[in-house]
Amino acid sequence: MTSFPAQARRVCDRTLAPQRRLYALRECTLHCAPYGFRATWHHLVVSAAIPRRLTDDLDALGRAADELQRARDVVLPRAEEYAARRRREKATGRRTPPNPPPWSSWGWSRIAYCPDPERHPTAPLATVVRAVLERWAAGVDAATHCLACGTERRRPGRACPACGVHPDGPAARWSAPSAPERWHRIWRRELDLDAAPHG
Ligand SMILES: [Zn+2]
Repeated sequence: MTSFPAQARRVCDRTLAPQRRLYALRECTLHCAPYGFRATWHHLVVSAAIPRRLTDDLDALGRAADELQRARDVVLPRAEEYAARRRREKATGRRTPPNPPPWSSWGWSRIAYCPDPERHPTAPLATVVRAVLERWAAGVDAATHCLACGTERRRPGRACPACGVHPDGPAARWSAPSAPERWHRIWRRELDLDAAPHG
């Protein structure tokens, strides 16, 4: 498995064929997918305006990689700091984290998991993950309020009605209606962007 930085460099390498750069972006997104892979991919296609024919805008892939990089720069240092703190606490016999992090067992890279690939926050990824971390640091309870947007949760165990983030992360056993067909369309960047249902 190659690293995020190496793949991000390939995304921006204009000497490579566009399709290879697209696959490098896919690798980057597998490493760092704040909404989960599919919803993050959908977000990037929309936010970076990745065209169906990649040669129509060869800068789009680089814009998408930059957005992922900025989100990763926000989360990764905090995740590493948390892991180091937990190691110190365990060494001193303190085993229960008083405020477990918003990524829990599924890893920091899916910090604001959205089960529906077309329903996720629309702000830049770095802005959303920063908001999640700040609400968590302020002691907001993910069971009562969405860490991504602050909306009060009236129905536990459901994705946020305002932004699509699910408090249970990838453990949320919910899949979007007609997900395979929709995913095929998203992957091929066949999006009717004006009609995209955004939260
Ligand atoms: Zn929300």
